[in-house]
Amino acid sequence: MRLIITEKNNSAQKIAEILSNGAATEKKSFTVPVFRWEDADGETAVIGTGGHFVGREFPQEKEYKQWKLDLIPGLIDAPLETGPIDGKKNVIKAVQKEAKKADSLVIGTDFDREGELIGLEALEVCLDVNPDLEPTLKRARYSALTQEEIEAAFAHLDLLSYPLAHAAGARQDIDLFWGAAFSRAVSLIAKAYGANFLSVGRVQSPTLGLIVERELERRAHVAKPFWELFAKFEHPTGHSFEAHHATDKFWDKAEADAALKGTVSPGVVKSVTSRKSSSKPPTPYNTNSFQVDASSRLGITPKRAMDLAQDLYDDGFISYPRTDNTIYPDSLPLEKTIRSLVKIKDFAAAAPILEKPLHPTQGKKFDAAHPPIYPTHALYPSALEGPKARVYELIVRRFLATFGEPMVTESTRADIEAGSETYFVRGKVVLDPGYAGIYTYARSADEEIPALEEGQQLAIEGAPWLVDKETQPPARLSEAKLVQLMDEQGLGTKATRPDIIQKLYNRRYVRNHPPEPTATGIAMYEAFKEYVPDMATSEMTASLEGEMDEIADEKMTKDEVVDDSRKLVHKTFKDLLEGEEALSKMIWEGMDQDRILGPCIVCKEAGRTKPDGSPNMLRIIRAKKSGKSFVGCSGWEADNPDSCDQTFPMPQPNFYEVTPFEENCSVCHRTPRVFVKTRGRAGRPWKLCFNDDCPTMVEMREKKAERLAAQEAKKKAEALDAEEAKKSGKKPAKKSSKKTSTVAAKIANPPDLGTRRVKKAGARGAGKPGAGGSAKRKG
Ligand SMILES: [Zn+2]
Ligand SMILES: [Zn+2]
Repeated sequence: MRLIITEKNNSAQKIAEILSNGAATEKKSFTVPVFRWEDADGETAVIGTGGHFVGREFPQEKEYKQWKLDLIPGLIDAPLETGPIDGKKNVIKAVQKEAKKADSLVIGTDFDREGELIGLEALEVCLDVNPDLEPTLKRARYSALTQEEIEAAFAHLDLLSYPLAHAAGARQDIDLFWGAAFSRAVSLIAKAYGANFLSVGRVQSPTLGLIVERELERRAHVAKPFWELFAKFEHPTGHSFEAHHATDKFWDKAEADAALKGTVSPGVVKSVTSRKSSSKPPTPYNTNSFQVDASSRLGITPKRAMDLAQDLYDDGFISYPRTDNTIYPDSLPLEKTIRSLVKIKDFAAAAPILEKPLHPTQGKKFDAAHPPIYPTHALYPSALEGPKARVYELIVRRFLATFGEPMVTESTRADIEAGSETYFVRGKVVLDPGYAGIYTYARSADEEIPALEEGQQLAIEGAPWLVDKETQPPARLSEAKLVQLMDEQGLGTKATRPDIIQKLYNRRYVRNHPPEPTATGIAMYEAFKEYVPDMATSEMTASLEGEMDEIADEKMTKDEVVDDSRKLVHKTFKDLLEGEEALSKMIWEGMDQDRILGPCIVCKEAGRTKPDGSPNMLRIIRAKKSGKSFVGCSGWEADNPDSCDQTFPMPQPNFYEVTPFEENCSVCHRTPRVFVKTRGRAGRPWKLCFNDDCPTMVEMREKKAERLAAQEAKKKAEALDAEEAKKSGKKPAKKSSKKTSTVAAKIANPPDLGTRRVKKAGARGAGKPGAGGSAKRKG
């Protein structure tokens, strides 16, 4: 029997279907689907592993589990072990049951380093029960789950590449001890434990650096005022138009005023010039350009874009989405693919590209492993749901555009003299959309101007006017730009970049879109930059990335690279210890700043301030004894009964993400408001005002009561139905258990926080103490 092992259940099914001509049948073995058929070559079974079987971990001894600074050097040198991944027992059993009966083995996992490593793990699992399989091992490499690709892959079986698998293994090991050593060290130094530990990663920290550097540039920006001058000219057609002064920006107000004064009606058209320009069609998508495009054209984050592309690949609709390649290999059935795509109405506009020989564009990167991302199956985007449809459409349109003609535009500029001053007006019209006819995202709206002739006189409508503006700081980096910068600096791989950005959000080093660093994120980066520069910048991590490539190219061994990395981690850890005190202080101050929510209105009304006159602030405090978080006022002093004892219970950060929304609620103006979201769950956050009497909170409670009442009524009705049915001997009508998809239903029920009351200034001790009220506080 021949055993084929793939990465996903989905690919196992597709491969079985294709190779068996639809004859394969599915049967569960230890709950894992196994696809089987028999043909002239005998019996074949296909199983999908669902990813890795085993993971790397530290030895079980206590010294690797305890979080202590003096244990970290030992942690860095720990002999790493291989352990089973939770929930993989069934898969291992199912694979081994087949392996015992098998006389040959084919690995058909995804064609990349990670897939090679999973293949190696699968081999080891099989050899445990049937060592005779080793010499029979073959590898099937394919880039798309299509008939042509799969048949070709199985007709030309290859061998498993150990160097590729070891390159992936090296990354696993290095990231494990790197992340563990520094996350523990930095958390210990900054005294941040439990769910609030500070995560530090080899790629993650320099990526945070890119975001923070831009933020610091923005903060250092000093706005400089400037003026722009406009005039409106009348036109015989009745379409008057605005023109801009020939001086782009006036930096001196007096000069701007003089130009305004010197403008005299009517203006005379001095020159009209037109220029045609053409823009080339775009190059084929690789992972990076696809992520950037999905983000900028569709507003989908790189992480989400990759997840959706992976789904489309698993469905057999597009080729493998992890590729560096931007040049179509000769083997691709380009014409056939285009022919089937243009039959779909949405893409019919591309049909003319088949009228001439195909000359697709090419990018600079070539990679023999995978083709650029292209559609492998033609279908109506409307057959797919929401964002998946948009991503599929983007990939199809981009693919078709690479065969398109250039887009030709004409821009026209007219200069108009009015008194001593010159104004200009510019228009831009698309003459031939070319590739942008199908790749519609690239086409911008026409800016038309009325027909003008040299010497034509135009009266000025009303008075010319000045607009005062100021220079803007550089924009924050979008996630697309970030992925691009990471690629340029060798940070991470095409497969890992989106996840790394997501981690920065999960650890609360950044928030909002585009990512904006929190005070903790900024402090951490600045502390690293000062004391442990290797962790703040991309050089070291990029050079390691290069060494991993050398493993794949058989120029270095996995052990050499891992050892090199251990040496670097030891040196970096030493730097960290040397800066320990200052580093701790910097990070601690950053975290402290992130805890501040807004000013305490009660103190303000009572005239209480900090010694320096600044307002007392409400902030998140963690009770030492219970470990519970609550909101308290910085004006509280343990031994002063006249100090502020405002406290509010809050959703516990272990279970909820709490992020600032308003320093002072825009509805009740009594307390800050925050966003709250259940950790690890999708859906929109809800807004929480700490003032229980706030109209927004009253409304939320009413809605919750309504929901509960409706649920109760439904339950009762169902119970009644069931009873009726029992009496009449019929089965109860099945009620749809589908959940409603309204926004309200997506927002998890807000946690019940007990009573929160904002005390009136002076009315001391009137309210009930909140959940944290009795907790010992440490300011
Ligand atoms: Zn207060
Ligand atoms: Zn409010």
